[in-house]
Amino acid sequence: MNFDVIIIGAGPAGLQAAMHASRKKVKVCVLGKPSNSALERAEIENYFGVGMMKGKDLIETSLKAAKEFGAQVLEEDLLTIEMAEGGFKLKTESLRELTSKALILAPGISRKKLNVEGEKEFHGLGVSYCATCDCNFFKKKTVAVLGDASMAASAALLLREYASKVYWVAKEFTASPQLMEKVKATDIEMVKAWPTKIYGEQTVKGMLLDNGRDLTLNGVFIELGAKGVADLAMEVNIFPDENGYIAVDRSCATGTPGVFACGDVTGQPWQLAKAVGEGCVAGLAAANYVKKEGE
Ligand SMILES: Cc1cc2nc3c(=O)[nH]c(=O)nc-3n(C[C@H](O)[C@H](O)[C@H](O)COP(=O)(O)OP(=O)(O)OC[C@H]3O[C@@H](n4cnc5c(N)ncnc54)[C@H](O)[C@@H]3O)c2cc1C
Repeated sequence: MNFDVIIIGAGPAGLQAAMHASRKKVKVCVLGKPSNSALERAEIENYFGVGMMKGKDLIETSLKAAKEFGAQVLEEDLLTIEMAEGGFKLKTESLRELTSKALILAPGISRKKLNVEGEKEFHGLGVSYCATCDCNFFKKKTVAVLGDASMAASAALLLREYASKVYWVAKEFTASPQLMEKVKATDIEMVKAWPTKIYGEQTVKGMLLDNGRDLTLNGVFIELGAKGVADLAMEVNIFPDENGYIAVDRSCATGTPGVFACGDVTGQPWQLAKAVGEGCVAGLAAANYVKKEGE
């Protein structure tokens, strides 16, 4: 099957890219399982024009719209990509072979896990991987942020605006000097330790640390960064940075001609509004690339 633009990822970035590229009348394929999008599990309350909304409903509406605008959606995962004459060759999990002139990488990210007892059990019940998404649910509560680096420091600072007490738990405190200074100017309690167990009943009640402390908590924010899509991207000569992110320019172009990227995979903030905005830019840019039109 031959396409002008293949989009890897059926989340908000990929589906928005599909809508914009299809309306430029190029032949578009979206590869990926919408049910694996981060948005499927989210309750959105900070997106333009919608109040409180189930992410699942947004995905469903956008999937329908992408198809109506002409995109073909294949609900399977990509196995391999390779560079080919005039574009790219791809193979899916059902060993279907596809070609395209341009590619859009929109595979999202998977948040790094802590791998301690209670983490999985209380995910969504007090354990969160996104302070920006969930800070509002912890007004006047006690929370802990886990992670050594700047991402954890900025999550702790954000949460301090909402929660009544914030612990920042880390093996080493390695955030940038500017962020360290800001944290030290607050009453955020820095604890040099690492968790051994998150416990609770219906929701999180606390966390045991390897220094013997037992913190009483309502929430645990795991801010360890993202797992990248390095293997996939490297097949088309794109080398994600140390956080797993793919660098793009203002038109969402990567360093490889004909390859664009959008959404969580290009870096923070991991937010719907950014994913959709970049999806629009990448979709238009990829269609223009195929049609050899300028911006
Ligand atoms: C619990 C939770 C709550 C959130 N709350 C909010 C909120 O309140 N507000 C907000 O703005 N944002 C929120 N977010 C973040 C928001 O959901 C993400 O920023 C957004 O979904 C990112 O879109 P994306 O398209 O880049 O990636 P995703 O939505 O993760 O989609 C990635 C897609 O790529 C596909 N894919 C991955 N690898 C492959 C492969 N090899 N082959 C084919 N397809 C592949 C996946 O199956 C998926 O379809 C929340 C996220 C979570 C997890």
